[in-house]
Amino acid sequence: MSNSGRVLLVAIDASTSAIIERGMADGSLPNLARLRERGVYGPLGSTAEWLAGTPWPSFYTGSLPPEHGFLFHLQWRPDLMRHDRPSPQWLPLHPFYRGFGHYRRRVVAIDVPITYGIQPDEAFDGVEITGWSSHDKIAPTSAFPAGTFRSMTRRYGRQPIILDIPVAQSVGALLKLKDGLIRSVAKQTALCESLMTTEAWDCLLLGIGAVHRGGHKLWDRTSILGSASPNDLAAYDRALHEVYLACDEAVGRLVKLAGTGSTVIVASLHGMQENHSRFDLLPLMLERILSDGRTAASRTRAQHRVLGGLRTLVPIQLRTEIKSRLPESIQDGLSRFWRPHDRKDWARTSAFCVMGDLQGMIQINLKGRERNGIVEPGAEYQQRLDQIAQGLMTWVDYDTGEPLVRRLARGNELYPEVTDRKIQPDLIVDWVRTPAARHRAITSTTYGTIDWPLPGKPLDGRSGHHTELGWLLAVGEGVRPGTTLQGAHGLDLNATIHALLGLPRPGGMRGEPLPELLGTSRPKSPQQPA
Ligand SMILES: [Zn+2]
Repeated sequence: MSNSGRVLLVAIDASTSAIIERGMADGSLPNLARLRERGVYGPLGSTAEWLAGTPWPSFYTGSLPPEHGFLFHLQWRPDLMRHDRPSPQWLPLHPFYRGFGHYRRRVVAIDVPITYGIQPDEAFDGVEITGWSSHDKIAPTSAFPAGTFRSMTRRYGRQPIILDIPVAQSVGALLKLKDGLIRSVAKQTALCESLMTTEAWDCLLLGIGAVHRGGHKLWDRTSILGSASPNDLAAYDRALHEVYLACDEAVGRLVKLAGTGSTVIVASLHGMQENHSRFDLLPLMLERILSDGRTAASRTRAQHRVLGGLRTLVPIQLRTEIKSRLPESIQDGLSRFWRPHDRKDWARTSAFCVMGDLQGMIQINLKGRERNGIVEPGAEYQQRLDQIAQGLMTWVDYDTGEPLVRRLARGNELYPEVTDRKIQPDLIVDWVRTPAARHRAITSTTYGTIDWPLPGKPLDGRSGHHTELGWLLAVGEGVRPGTTLQGAHGLDLNATIHALLGLPRPGGMRGEPLPELLGTSRPKSPQQPA
């Protein structure tokens, strides 16, 4: 089997370009550093700039968020007035590589995040594993062909990365998590090596989930609950880098196996930084704004409300442990029950927050779209959005006066090039990029004060959260060593993989092939279906 024209993509999901660059420069990530010398490296933009949950579906469908419609693993359904888990029937999402069989190109795909398993009506030539060791999963683990699942789980275990626990944890639990993440990388690598040697492949995609989970949970000490010994703290401070090291080693092994004729791309579609999410306080802020400040009468009352919120925060760890043992449909039911987004008096609710975890997303209860809508389209809709937008801009940090909101976007004005839009939130809130855990309280001259329920801690236990900035490193026949990539986007990566394999793209897919990866002799002329 010739290696020529093959593409290997290894995603170190949600890794941080600054950590990668530091590790390449100081030699602590030696395999990536060697690739850098021979290849092209640079930043990768993403659709996470407004919608943190969207870079993967945008990449693998070659479309923008309003086109593919995926936002979060529990997503608002105006026809049912509740959040639901996206499904292939409701929100079809077709990864581009599943169509490569039409062109006699064989694919091995392991843990491409936020994918459904292969559906009975999907033709596919290759091996695909979904939702096994990724951080983000929207469906239970599945494997194609069917027999793969049993042999894979028997050999490498059922779920190397388990459900996230969205609260601060003890240092012991976090160190255990780190060990588990390093093991998960080893398992994914071993599985990938085994498939690389036993299966024919032209395109191989591997999504390593460990750094994504590690970035959320091991970013800094604000993830730690309770006290910790100096030794444990020192071990914790090294933990995230150790997960990066495991990924670097994985890359080294897989590149060796891919052979010299392949184009190797190592990338991250988005990044990680200190947690700047104020998401959990947005429902309280919105309630104050919608009541024109009447609920802000006293700080005592505000504290009472937030303490109520705190009571619901504390048992989350227990809830999550219970949840992780239940089937997915029951887990989702419990999430909806515990997070009261769907239990509202709709006849009196003009706007509400939809579920997410970073940017705030606000939906107007709009007549004609929401089943129980009360706000008239047109002037009333606009006026309500204006009121909320102006109100949000009044909130600042209690101590420093720094605004909380970096910028706001109307969902229907994002990506004006899109004509056929699936559902989008009406208003998106992008927070300032300072650590949210620094707040003691937030305040508004109009709407009063809300205490930060866990001073010094992120409310979701995540010390790290997303930035839109990813990165890409590539070596191959068409790549000039030591070059720098500029202005690239995750959508371009989709176009580039097609071009490297000499395949045409289905009409309407977005992004442009990256010339830095294609060299002078490319792109090849597209082939016709076999
Ligand atoms: Zn994440």
